[in-house]
Amino acid sequence: MIGFSPNRVVRRRPDGWLYQLPDANHKHSSYLVSLKAFSVIIRILLLLLFAVPAYAAPQYEQMREEGILILYPAAYQTQARTSLKMLLDARLEITARLRLPASIPVSAELVGDNNLFNEMVGNTSHLRILGVAYSPNGRIVINLARLTPGGQSNLYETLAHEMAHVTLGSLEKEKQLRLSRWFHEGVACWLGRVLPDSPDDHRLETAAIMNALIPFYTLEKGFPPFQEQSQLAYLQSENFIRFILNRHGQDSIARVLAALKTGESLDQGFMRALGIDVFQEEALWAESLRGGHPFLKLVYNHFTILTVGALLTVIAFIGYRIKRRRILDRFAREEQLAAAMHWEEPVDEN
Ligand SMILES: [Zn+2]
Repeated sequence: MIGFSPNRVVRRRPDGWLYQLPDANHKHSSYLVSLKAFSVIIRILLLLLFAVPAYAAPQYEQMREEGILILYPAAYQTQARTSLKMLLDARLEITARLRLPASIPVSAELVGDNNLFNEMVGNTSHLRILGVAYSPNGRIVINLARLTPGGQSNLYETLAHEMAHVTLGSLEKEKQLRLSRWFHEGVACWLGRVLPDSPDDHRLETAAIMNALIPFYTLEKGFPPFQEQSQLAYLQSENFIRFILNRHGQDSIARVLAALKTGESLDQGFMRALGIDVFQEEALWAESLRGGHPFLKLVYNHFTILTVGALLTVIAFIGYRIKRRRILDRFAREEQLAAAMHWEEPVDEN
């Protein structure tokens, strides 16, 4: 309770509004005091009204070059300049690889606050929580709050990944078609990767051998919500794109895109450009992951440090058994000796 005027008190209600209660000791208060209090409330309301939007939307600055717009809070000018340079480089590289116009417009919003970022993007199962792309609109949102110091390659990978989505999105808009989600993610992972996947990751081979690969036709509209399955979907998509590039040439994805006519499906583009449909190509890819000796491959993939540890334990146990047997043998011999000695001892007849 806060004292306000000699005969009135102001209470703060849980919802933050201020209102006045007549003080029990001063029942005959004047109108003048009420009016004064009313004007104070109005002033507070006005203050709240104008203060709230200023808090929710920090002042954004902009930076623009060759159709790339960066929106950023004033404190992030250095990061904005870096992002602009990275997006210019990424766009040049991606459009060259996909043989698409180099002038695709894009806007990137840099957000410096986790809560604001989550509010802006909503729930997303996207792996790269550092950023998201709204590809048909050419809009990228990047969360600078999640960027670790020295995370320059993370920032580049994220911007390039999202730029690839935007590039494919502009083609979708132009040709009025919808590319499958696995294709979007596969191409974005391929073009956004600074370094290719580590060869130590055997999840794909294991999934292929155990018939646990996710069929691509189920990944057309979206990815699974569970993290483990979602990660597998990303791995599969990128690996499949690399498999296509290796088999049909480094320009094969560009050829598929060029072959797509208005409103067509990816299958039609595949047939026209590569002479094979997605389903057949997928079967060849899964077969290549399984390799020639499925069982040996499974054992090899799982011959990890844990396996070595388990073997050492077995060897140690065998060694212990041999040692134990020797000790028991010795005990037995000693007993025999003692028994023999006892036998020879003179027996006291008393
Ligand atoms: Zn993506």
